[in-house]
Amino acid sequence: MKGTVYKSTGSWYYVKGEDGKYYDCRIKGKFRIKGIKSTNPVAVGDKVEFDIEDKEGAEQGVIKKIDKRENYIIRKSVNLSKQIHIIASNIDQVFLLITLNNPPTFTTFIDRFLVTAEAYGIKAVLLFNKIDTYNEDELVEIKYLAAIYREVGYECIGISAKTGKNVEKVKEMMLGKTSMFSGHSGTGKSTLINALEPGLNLKTSEISGQHKQGQHTTTFAEMFDLSFDARIIDTPGIKGFGVVDIEREELGNYFPEFFKVKQNCKFHNCMHLEEPQCAVKEALEEGKIAWSRYKSYLQILEGEEDNYRTDIYKK
Ligand code: GDP
Ligand code: ZN
Repeated sequence: MKGTVYKSTGSWYYVKGEDGKYYDCRIKGKFRIKGIKSTNPVAVGDKVEFDIEDKEGAEQGVIKKIDKRENYIIRKSVNLSKQIHIIASNIDQVFLLITLNNPPTFTTFIDRFLVTAEAYGIKAVLLFNKIDTYNEDELVEIKYLAAIYREVGYECIGISAKTGKNVEKVKEMMLGKTSMFSGHSGTGKSTLINALEPGLNLKTSEISGQHKQGQHTTTFAEMFDLSFDARIIDTPGIKGFGVVDIEREELGNYFPEFFKVKQNCKFHNCMHLEEPQCAVKEALEEGKIAWSRYKSYLQILEGEEDNYRTDIYKK
């Protein structure tokens, strides 16, 4: 039987079979995927093959194969063995909820999030929530921000989880897909999820700007089917959208608009800092790359915390 892992407790896996039924599955013996050193061999979202065995009248599954993962998000293991923990896999998209002031979402935070999504190979969508609360100036700022990210290639939607504005649009984007929701605490994740699926109370994780490592967590990710054809992965107790180690030299690759022009930099290993004839700096001067994005790039390179408000008008 083929199926998808919906929940994992570490030793048992709750797998939804192709027949729509759920099976308690375990793993027999040593079971490792080549090339990945993780503390958990099987993660939520994994597509698996399992045998059904009859154990004293109850059906149990034994997982025997995991399909290659499209992508996966990780956290660092708390032990020192340099192993990782796979939080979830096969995620189609992640929605980032953004609010201007209540709470503030810094552009550096958005950019750090997007870099992580790029590095994981997961599509990111920006949801500017609480659109019902903004005055004219704030709406201008939202539009300005959205324009920057649309230009880079990210889909941006202004929504109100409270009034329902554009919630239907989000629903449409979720059809047939597995989604995650992220954003600072208070940006409206619970409200939105409740608007999408009344009664489904997820804990939803708060994501932190810093890459806090080594945090203990006893909770596990879980996948939920919604009443319309969509799935959500909830990651309670997990700080962050996971951590990816990005080499300094790689960072520019995860800014799509830098990546697009960097083959025109004089030096193939250009870091887009003080080098001569840097195509990224040229695009920046020509207004083709946003200053806020470049600032985030510098800040991530320096390993600094997120502290730029949406000060997008200033250089
Ligand atoms: P979470 O921490 O991300 O899950 O955020 P919540 O869903 O708990 O929302 C935090 C607060 O913002 C609550 O008081 C919500 O009622 C409020 N809120 C969420 N979305 C909206 C919205 O679109 N408009 C307005 N006016 N308030 C909202
Ligand atoms: Zn360059």
